[in-house]
Order: sequence, then C-alpha cells, then structure tokens
Amino acid sequence: MHNDHVGTFFDFPNATFHLQDEEMQFVTGRHMRDAVFSRPYEVDHVVGLVRLVFGDRVDFHRGDAEIAPGVSVHHIGGHTMGLQAVRVQTRRGWVVLASDASHYYEHMESGRCFPLVFDVGELLEGYATLQRLAASPGHIIPGHDPLVLKRYPPPSPALAGIAVRLDVDPVE
Ligand SMILES: [Zn+2]
Repeated sequence: MHNDHVGTFFDFPNATFHLQDEEMQFVTGRHMRDAVFSRPYEVDHVVGLVRLVFGDRVDFHRGDAEIAPGVSVHHIGGHTMGLQAVRVQTRRGWVVLASDASHYYEHMESGRCFPLVFDVGELLEGYATLQRLAASPGHIIPGHDPLVLKRYPPPSPALAGIAVRLDVDPVE
C-alpha cells in the first residue's frame, strides 16, 4: 500500500483489490507512529482502502493465493510487513512481478537490501522465495529498475518507454 503502488486506486471504481492481511495490519497499527515506516504511505490512501473494505471491494490473503487462473499472489514481507509478489503464467513460463521485494535487479543479484525496510531477514529470505516461484532468475521482474524498460520490448511503438511485454524473453 505504499503511495507509489496504490496511489491511483480510485481510478478503478470496479476493481477488487487483493491485499495481504499483514499489510492492512501494518498500515493501521502501531508502526505508523514511526515516520520511517509511515512516510511512504498516504493516510488518505489508507483510509480509502478501509472504506473499500466496508464496501466488500478488498479480498484479503494470508500467504499464497490463486486469484485467477494462472495468476497468484505470494506474501514476501521484508520491505513492508505485508508486501506481496504476483506470479503470472506466460508463454515463456512463470513470470514473477517482484514489486518491492527487489527494487532493482542488483538487490536480489548481490543480496543487498534497499534501505527502506521493515524486516531485513524477511527481505533477504524473499529473494529465495522469488527464485522458487519463477521459471528462472530471468523471469523475475524487479519493481523499480529502469533496466526493465531496456530489456523488454514495448507492446507497440506508441507505448515505448511506458510499458513492456514480459511474456517474451529479455533482449539482453
Ligand atoms: Zn515500497
């Protein structure tokens, strides 16, 4: 629920949101009193998601869950208490959208840790979980690495620099 991941949730009025129990616990609990943990959240986003809970628009998960055929969510933790990765079956096999389980390729490849972290041990174990879920290390997509736009082709020329296809092999 960090602001850079959930900030446009209100643009999807018909969506059901999939959330780990531990993320909602984190953003409404004691740790939000500490600025180091609360800064990446917007209180209006958190309250907005709570309102959606009351409207039955949030599906909660505790760990792994298949949310559609070939699409599953997996609790990783580490970066935040309830961080989850998403795994998708594609024509080249299981692709894992790591989100902030690995900000850059280099974090998981060198076993390093992005400094904004709730539980370092859980974050480091998350790298092994990503590997276990993906068809190969090349099937793991970090959440914030500009190299993703370089390694994968856009679905159309108009979307160059904006979106990429992850169901095809990387170019490098
Ligand atoms: Zn984040």
